[in-house]
Amino acid sequence: MAASGKMASFRLPPLPTIGEIIRLYNLRAERQLSQNFLLDMKLTDKIVRQAGSLKGAHVCEVGPGPGGLTRSILNAGAADLLVVEKDARFVPGLQLLSEAAPGRLRMVQGDILTYRMDRGFPKKIARKWEEEPPELHIIGNLPFSVSTPLIIKWLEAMSDRTGPFAFGRTRLTLTFQKEVAERLTAGPGSRQRSRLSVMTQYLCKVRDCFTIPGRAFVPKPKVDVGVVHFTPLAQPQIQQPFKLVEKVVKNVFQFRRKYCRRGIEMLFPEMLRLELAEQMLQMADVDPTLRPTQLSVAKFGALADAYSKLCARNPGLFSYDFREERRNKGRDKGLLAEGLDSEEDDEEHY
Ligand code: SAM
Repeated sequence: MAASGKMASFRLPPLPTIGEIIRLYNLRAERQLSQNFLLDMKLTDKIVRQAGSLKGAHVCEVGPGPGGLTRSILNAGAADLLVVEKDARFVPGLQLLSEAAPGRLRMVQGDILTYRMDRGFPKKIARKWEEEPPELHIIGNLPFSVSTPLIIKWLEAMSDRTGPFAFGRTRLTLTFQKEVAERLTAGPGSRQRSRLSVMTQYLCKVRDCFTIPGRAFVPKPKVDVGVVHFTPLAQPQIQQPFKLVEKVVKNVFQFRRKYCRRGIEMLFPEMLRLELAEQMLQMADVDPTLRPTQLSVAKFGALADAYSKLCARNPGLFSYDFREERRNKGRDKGLLAEGLDSEEDDEEHY
């Protein structure tokens, strides 16, 4: 049968198991690099299936480590797999894989946070943003220590259509700490709803695929892990620059348990605070007594549009930061800025 004949051509020949590779090359997990390995190929295959068909595709894998997920990606038929790994100890094991899949595995030893992915793949695979996504996927069992800064960086790149998104709507299948996976996908009204939910969902269709129990990893992390799939939206739900959306969302979630009006007020200098916050809420048609967690992405979009109009009318407004004003006041009065800041009930970090 032709199909199974083709299957056979991209499946890897017999290789030492991942456990054997770890022992062979003495690859003790480094806590500093958040190394938790997946040795169960059924699980790595399941992660890879979430990406959709990889036959003939280009893939970038983040942090391949000893190469379990890497094998699953190759077995799924990726034609060109580029792995970016910070820890040089993994190179010999990956080299073995590269020899088993001639011409299909490229290695970069470096930091994914600074790697220029726009240079890593041929320009000819690019698709227009509005078209179907390109045959390029990012897949990774991410180090927890870099997963949140990395997704924020990629969300901004998505908004600017740079980096991996210079090729179009590149899809991502990534692992996160369970709690972060829940925040990424939380809808309005959910306890997990946060800045990260809004910033992600205005740019992407996001799916919480499944949970991997901590015990499946070696060594076992303290938390369970969620696999999340992202497809950038052809039409982002908010049509404003990333930094402006980020500022509005950050301010609104500043006082997570209070009415949303409270955080919105802090976008404006004290003298104009009440008047401009009122105008912004009216322009956006948002109920000031809703809690930040209750606001839909569409409502955040309306708030961002209103704030953008107010910034156009009030030069210098966008650069206003209430924390700076407080710090200066604290200095004048000889008060510690931390003391003043304690009024904020929940400074929400991503
Ligand atoms: N993918 C392997 C697996 O599933 O078994 C390893 C996963 S382990 C959680 C994370 C991997 O990312 C490690 O191999 C680690 O060395 C690598 N890593 C950590 N920080 C990195 C960075 N900034 N850039 C690239 N790789 C990194």
